[in-house]
Amino acid sequence: MASITDKNMKLPDFSDTATAFAHMDNQELKKTAWLFRMMNKPWLVKYGSSLGLVAVEWNLPFAEKIIRHTIFEQFVGGSTLLESQKSIDRLSNLNTLTILDYGAEAKETEQDFNHTMTENIRAIDFASQGEHKVPVISTKVTGLARFALLEKMQSAATLSKEEQNEYRNALKRLDTICFHAAQKGVAVFIDAEESWIQDSLDHLVWLMMKRYNKEKVVVFNTYQLYRKDRLQFLMESADRARESGFMLGAKLVRGAYMEKERKRSEEMGYPNPINPDKQTTDDHYNTALRFCADHLDEMAVCNASHNAQSNLLLAEIMEQKGIPRDHPNTMFSQLYGMSDNLTFNLAKGGYRVAKYVPYGQVHDVIPYLIRRAQENSSVTGDAGRELSLILTELERRNLG
Ligand SMILES: Cc1cc2nc3c(=O)[nH]c(=O)nc-3n(C[C@H](O)[C@H](O)[C@H](O)COP(=O)(O)OP(=O)(O)OC[C@H]3O[C@@H](n4cnc5c(N)ncnc54)[C@H](O)[C@@H]3O)c2cc1C
Repeated sequence: MASITDKNMKLPDFSDTATAFAHMDNQELKKTAWLFRMMNKPWLVKYGSSLGLVAVEWNLPFAEKIIRHTIFEQFVGGSTLLESQKSIDRLSNLNTLTILDYGAEAKETEQDFNHTMTENIRAIDFASQGEHKVPVISTKVTGLARFALLEKMQSAATLSKEEQNEYRNALKRLDTICFHAAQKGVAVFIDAEESWIQDSLDHLVWLMMKRYNKEKVVVFNTYQLYRKDRLQFLMESADRARESGFMLGAKLVRGAYMEKERKRSEEMGYPNPINPDKQTTDDHYNTALRFCADHLDEMAVCNASHNAQSNLLLAEIMEQKGIPRDHPNTMFSQLYGMSDNLTFNLAKGGYRVAKYVPYGQVHDVIPYLIRRAQENSSVTGDAGRELSLILTELERRNLG
């Protein structure tokens, strides 16, 4: 497909569903509408999630087949790196980059952690051969180290000899990934997770940034702006990075564990670390965007969000400050299969935009798929954000 870049357009128009869904023919669009209608039913998502988990655990081939041809196809690039190539090429034809994310989660053994590291390294090799279609891979520290170990480290309890060994192994795995990425010219995004392990993650990522971000940003930490303290932490991190002589990598997100955070803080009787309301989170997020745009000479930012206003805001700031739309220290990102109205309109405007593309075997990515289904299920009965956009496009094509 020909490039669709149109740099004459002033700012991206996220209501342009023609551009958002240009990559789908009528049949694909109808199938996607059907899928989002299904996910819009909370009862179906609730029972479907449990059934899906059980069926895949019992190795029922029909269950895997159904999942593969519906929700997996929508949100996952493929079972393997090679299988994901088609999605990567399709995105590249739409001026959109790919962030590869090995989707296996909730692992517990040293063998699993070594396997994740090997997969990450394979993804880096794969990315480095791909004509810059994949500039970044993403990883999660809980894919490389035991959750309980990270939690214990954060609680300042003394680690046993065995645990110290485990910690050293985790550090070695992360370092091997980042070293390899630096050698191959690929960046690494490290996800943010629950607040009760995040200090441990921050410490590990800090060590990596210090080691590998001397000339350019290879390693990115993730800042969850739904937390009361993260805006300040981001600003302090930028100061500390400057003083220590390296560049900060900042992937900004609002945060995905709000309910879990609230529940744990109530159960354990400490103040909820999350902002009191959505508006405060939005304000913190947008202030963080402005801060990063003001410091692009010493940091790189990824605006990882499905919020149209936050995406437009960064585009506006870049316009006002005369920052080139393809500035290498900027990136916008959305999850594969979601918010195509943002991604492909940003791509059309010539911004650096990437889809987060998870890949993995069906049984390994089930937890990720359940989260996507839950996100798109409407408790109020209103059409969700994605479904509304698809319905608008169906109507525009006279298919509604
Ligand atoms: C590319 C990409 C990478 C991501 N990586 C991570 C990651 O590493 N770690 C992670 O935790 N999440 C990650 N996320 C998920 C992200 O944190 C959000 O959950 C999700 O993107 C929804 O937020 P939004 O910015 O798209 O906007 P919106 O849909 O406008 O915002 C919804 C978010 O606002 C916040 N919020 C909602 N209600 C309230 C309230 N009452 N009070 C306070 N805050 C509220 C919550 O964070 C909620 O998720 C990622 C998302 C993307 C697109």
